[in-house]
Amino acid sequence: MMMKKWAFQRNSEPKTTSETPTSSVLTILMSNLNQSDRRPIIPMAHGEPSLSPCFGTIQTTADAIAEAVHSAKFNGYSPTGGLLPPRRAVAEYLSQGLTNKLSPDDVFLTMGCKHAAQNILTVLKGSKSNNILFPKPGFPYYEFLARSCHLEVRYFDLLPEKDWEVDLDSLESLADENTVAMVIINPGNPCGNVFTHQHLKKVAEIARNLGILVISDEVYDHITFGKNPFVSMGNFGSIVPVVTLGSLSKRFVVPGWRLGWLVTHDPNGILKQHGIIESIKGYFHMSSNVPTFIQGALPDILGRREDHISSKNVNIIREATNSCYKGIIDIPGVSCPSKPEGSIFIMVKLDISAFKDIKDDLDFCVKIAKEESVLILPGISVGLKNWLRVTIAIDPSSLEDAIKRLKSFCGRHSKKSKSVECWLDHIS
Ligand SMILES: *Cc1c(COP(=O)(O)O)cnc(C)c1O
Repeated sequence: MMMKKWAFQRNSEPKTTSETPTSSVLTILMSNLNQSDRRPIIPMAHGEPSLSPCFGTIQTTADAIAEAVHSAKFNGYSPTGGLLPPRRAVAEYLSQGLTNKLSPDDVFLTMGCKHAAQNILTVLKGSKSNNILFPKPGFPYYEFLARSCHLEVRYFDLLPEKDWEVDLDSLESLADENTVAMVIINPGNPCGNVFTHQHLKKVAEIARNLGILVISDEVYDHITFGKNPFVSMGNFGSIVPVVTLGSLSKRFVVPGWRLGWLVTHDPNGILKQHGIIESIKGYFHMSSNVPTFIQGALPDILGRREDHISSKNVNIIREATNSCYKGIIDIPGVSCPSKPEGSIFIMVKLDISAFKDIKDDLDFCVKIAKEESVLILPGISVGLKNWLRVTIAIDPSSLEDAIKRLKSFCGRHSKKSKSVECWLDHIS
């Protein structure tokens, strides 16, 4: 009998194409942990505050969900893009900081910020030769998405010596007639920067000249604690069409609830004229909607319950940033050119030449996992070699411990450590 061939086979897409995908780096780090180290593992590689007890479950937010479930009003299917009351609630919530107020029609509810990003990148896919501009360092998920949408990725630099502002000159030289959009992340992951009003306006003006859409990932909106207040890119919608992306995940510390939004800021109707709004809706017809009981709780979550939550958590993150920054700048071999003002990360620069036996950032992270049970993401995972991305949203006591371990690790591997030991031998 002839062997029947199967008609299906592995799809080559989407595939992870970045040099060192975050998930495989994390696997490498975890596999290097020393099982006999009795000290607790300090998880500074993930951006997951919900893992740290100090950020705990927020009772009022949980109550809003329970009320929505018990009301039995939210058991049906959701209309595409979400129910009207929660879309209105998002429009009102985001309009607080905007000159052009939003209407519920500008808001689409999504299953988290990632789903919102997936929507807009799918919409922009267009012809095979389209390209999109991403920040470097950045959030690797975008690269993954773009590749699976056949969008060529080009990177503009964020400049550490200028508080991680966009290298505006490079934008103009990167873009060509096939460039469709640029992405910014504000407040920044991984840099912890918060763009000024003035800088965002310049970005908007350049994007308008290039004729491209600005996609602004604002998932850390209002997690700010420095001199620059959070300004939404949505404020510049009259200069250039803007799509903002956000979610409950980070601010309300409930990433597993999967509630986010895609919002269009387009007072001049350019997106509508170009059929983009229709395409966004078309995509939502195809994908599923946010569970209705979570939508039902949203007006309550965003409305009266919001302030206390964010100020408490932002205070914890502010303190953590201060102590982390202070600790790091005192350690030879590592430095932090720009103190974070928002989000939950700090970018730390490695001076590889200061170490006697550390090859690069990945080697540093593998060794500190092994020797100190501290997990840190190597910069290469976010596009910047010989840097580290450190998550500061962990419990304050662990953070203090982490700084001590980092200090002893750097001391032990420093080129100077040998001579110090000899010197100590000498005097004893
Ligand atoms: C965490 C994160 C996301 C993902 O948000 P979800 O709401 O969990 O999908 C998106 N963008 C950035 C920059 C993030 O750090």
